[in-house]
Amino acid sequence: MSQSKRYEGKAKIIYQSEEPEILLSHFKDDATAFNAQKQGQILGKGEVNCRLSAALFELLEAAGITTHYIDQPAPNQMRVRAVKILPVEVVVRNIAAGSLCRQTGLSQGTVLPSPLVEFYFKNDQLGDPLLTRDRLLLLELATPEQLEQLQTMALQINQHLKTFFERCGITLVDFKLEFGLDQEQKLRVADEISPDTCRFWDRAESDPNARVMDKDRFRRDLGEVESTYQRVLERVLAQIAPPLQS
Ligand code: UDP
Repeated sequence: MSQSKRYEGKAKIIYQSEEPEILLSHFKDDATAFNAQKQGQILGKGEVNCRLSAALFELLEAAGITTHYIDQPAPNQMRVRAVKILPVEVVVRNIAAGSLCRQTGLSQGTVLPSPLVEFYFKNDQLGDPLLTRDRLLLLELATPEQLEQLQTMALQINQHLKTFFERCGITLVDFKLEFGLDQEQKLRVADEISPDTCRFWDRAESDPNARVMDKDRFRRDLGEVESTYQRVLERVLAQIAPPLQS
């Protein structure tokens, strides 16, 4: 199989496949945090994040939400439709954590009265700043119609994922989405949905450190990073295919 590397990012390598409209996304074990100031590896992460993202993209597709996902030819590889990624990170929050607390003074763990949708400029040099809707339109990062659609899709995705993760015994605190435009200019959810891009809290734990089931274990040196990523995957797969009753 001839493949040429199109792009290498912090957590993934994107290869061109033999078909022009199909790319191969290879998930790496490499981990970075704080705008790549902290670097390391989480063994098995590539496979966990790929399998989790595949399962969640399938769940969203079944709910009528278009994604770039096609299939998963290997545990750490995903075939995806080629899309033009919008330079915007869409963050949805159900509970206050991370930068929302740092920037507003809200206490970590505050349940938000309704989900909050935020837009960040995907620009490493500028440090991915928070955008207002007017700034996003000023920079022409999306059209007004696309902006409306991003907001609507982000809230729909949140509803589906929040309900699903509750069944897994996990609270979906917040998460980041990326979107791309396909050849027909249709918006598709892209990139990944995984413990690297979501905050997950174990519903069975009340201790603020013990409940963390996401990349905050790596960011904050909480330990048990690999095993926690594996546990998230196990719980998700168990919900998708519950064990047969004897
Ligand atoms: N996030 C991400 N990539 C980024 C920034 C944030 O996947 O470049 C995710 C992060 O894992 C969390 C959510 O988006 O689930 C909100 O992150 P926040 O703004 O609180 O930033 P942080 O506190 O991680 O700096």
